[in-house]
Amino acid sequence: MKVTYPRRRILESIQPYEPGRPISEVQREHGLERVIKLASNENPLGPAPLAVQAIQREISQIYRYPDASGFHLRQKLAARFGLDMSNIMLGNGSVEIIDILCVAFLDPADEMVTSERAFSKYVIATRWMGGVPVLAPMKNWTFDLNAIFERITNQTRLIFIANPNNPTGTRVSNEEIHRFVSRLPHHVVVVFDEAYFDYLEPEERPDTLRYVREGRNVVILHTFSKAYGLAGLRIGYALAPVHLVHEMNIVREAFNMNHLAQIAAPAALDDEEFLQRSRELNRQSKQMFLDELNRLGLDYVPTCANFVLIHFDRPAAKIFQALLRRGVITRPMRGYHLPNSLRVTFGTLEENEVFFRTLEAALAQPVEMPSAP
Ligand SMILES: *Cc1c(COP(=O)(O)O)cnc(C)c1O
Repeated sequence: MKVTYPRRRILESIQPYEPGRPISEVQREHGLERVIKLASNENPLGPAPLAVQAIQREISQIYRYPDASGFHLRQKLAARFGLDMSNIMLGNGSVEIIDILCVAFLDPADEMVTSERAFSKYVIATRWMGGVPVLAPMKNWTFDLNAIFERITNQTRLIFIANPNNPTGTRVSNEEIHRFVSRLPHHVVVVFDEAYFDYLEPEERPDTLRYVREGRNVVILHTFSKAYGLAGLRIGYALAPVHLVHEMNIVREAFNMNHLAQIAAPAALDDEEFLQRSRELNRQSKQMFLDELNRLGLDYVPTCANFVLIHFDRPAAKIFQALLRRGVITRPMRGYHLPNSLRVTFGTLEENEVFFRTLEAALAQPVEMPSAP
């Protein structure tokens, strides 16, 4: 029997987001005891301990609906950034806020400009709305804000800039950002997705808060998923002028931040010790990766985040599989049209060692030749 159903034509053009493989699945499929996941840019130290304690104290309250306004967390974030509470919107991960932005600002045929090899969610959420993704080329694996600016038309409504970008790990400078924002026409909203903000050194940090304070059409996205170690809770936030938060709130599901996330996030913000430890480990891991990648003579993109994009001289699918069979999950980059590359998240120092030992073994395998007919 032929099944017919209503189908939006646009869905044919969308590749669903491809997440990293979960540890339990790889353990099951490959019969492995120990699996190291370096695939989703999670914090290898686990969650912020103060966040865990806060959840344990509050767990019995999950029978109630959460505070739809997220009052406590928004108040805390407002104080931290010197903003008003009305400048803050919470999301079920910052990825939900990417969706919310597309629902709030894109009509069919409206254009969203970003870079090629930018975080793939911007294109997916744009297509959902029937919007048109416009991709500017990169320069040295980095967002080229001039190339993006040149692609702004009367139909452009949204611009997404991941800074640092995932999967390249590169960032744009404050001078470039300033030149870009100063010239922006009023009919576009520019979104700075700063998911890796906490891993940047102070002198590397984007100074984008000033544009929110000035009331420009600028939205900043931050998350608790990376340096704070709360990826499984799903909580992120937007900092934006009131007029933009107003539009976004119209399309926000009222109970989009769950209760435990609202309890854990403020506690994580108080956990300075954990954040410092996470940053310090990341510094050490970055150095270790650079040293090892150089030693192995591998090509990579210099990173300022908690992962690195490695380019091989052959299809990376085989290397990915060889690592997987030995219990190390990395992230293939086919979806980004980089079939010879893998993105690898920094682990603990011990996990990093296992990764490089395993990688060397995987690379030592003979390259398979096509068999003769
Ligand atoms: C990890 C990541 C996010 C964060 O996603 P959450 O939904 O907050 O977990 C957002 N943007 C980029 C570029 C990322 O890499």
